[in-house]
Amino acid sequence: MEFEGRYGQAQRQKYDCLLFDLDDTLYPLSSGLAAGCLKNIQDYMVEKLGIEKTKIPDLCNLLYKNYGTTMAGLRAIGYDFDYDEYHSFVHGRLPYENLKPDPVLRSLLLGLPFRKVIFTNADKVHATKVLSRLGLEGCFEGIICFETLNPTHKSTVSDDEDDIEFVGSTLSSCPGSCNSNIFDIIAHFAQPNPGTTLPKTPVVCKPSEDAIERALKIANINPQRTLFFEDSVRNIQAGKRVGLNTVLVGTSQRVKGADYVLESIHNIREAIPELLEVDKMAEVSYSGVAVETSVTA
Ligand SMILES: [Mg+2]
Repeated sequence: MEFEGRYGQAQRQKYDCLLFDLDDTLYPLSSGLAAGCLKNIQDYMVEKLGIEKTKIPDLCNLLYKNYGTTMAGLRAIGYDFDYDEYHSFVHGRLPYENLKPDPVLRSLLLGLPFRKVIFTNADKVHATKVLSRLGLEGCFEGIICFETLNPTHKSTVSDDEDDIEFVGSTLSSCPGSCNSNIFDIIAHFAQPNPGTTLPKTPVVCKPSEDAIERALKIANINPQRTLFFEDSVRNIQAGKRVGLNTVLVGTSQRVKGADYVLESIHNIREAIPELLEVDKMAEVSYSGVAVETSVTA
């Protein structure tokens, strides 16, 4: 009632930014891209890095769990490869044709009077392709992607003196997949030795809090006034720890760290009363925010 007849939007609008994960958040998991991605990552590990096939499932699992992405984990334990080559191998053969234009989501997004930014661990080529397939071009002011958080990523040593290799690790960098220096993470967890610590990764990605904080800083986003949409529970929980308001997408099950849950991104309006409230207000005085081109890698 106290809201009626007043249009002091600034006073009551709780959010000013919507931050979206891309894969399995803006389109459903059932599209098959995630499964294709996992298969391609495993093929890359066998074909390009020469890792024994039988070790792949355990290795993938441990790397993903401990480093956020398999790629970040591979780099941490000592494999050296070109990030662009990795991304094009892993994403190049995905069934993008399964993604169809989503005009409902498009008009939904365009109708929401907030800043809208993508935050993905994937590379820019993949992000652009997915957005284009979904017909969501122009719905976001920027994309924070792999290259945004990992701007110096030439991996073979090294004509690039800014290259960051194995920061904080006891391993030294070497060209190619120098197997003798590979940290055996499977053995590490099979027979824990209190004396050894996991090597650090040079890759900056979700769910590291540092990665999320960097992304927020780059895009000039205040976490307290932002809703973060994600399908990954651990990314949601990391987002919560850095102060974001969180929306877990793709499930109806509430989990710790998620302020809201949405079975589908299409339910934004129904599931979040604050958005409806803003939507109802007459002539919202939003005039758009200047596009920060620097947000896009
Ligand atoms: Mg995702």
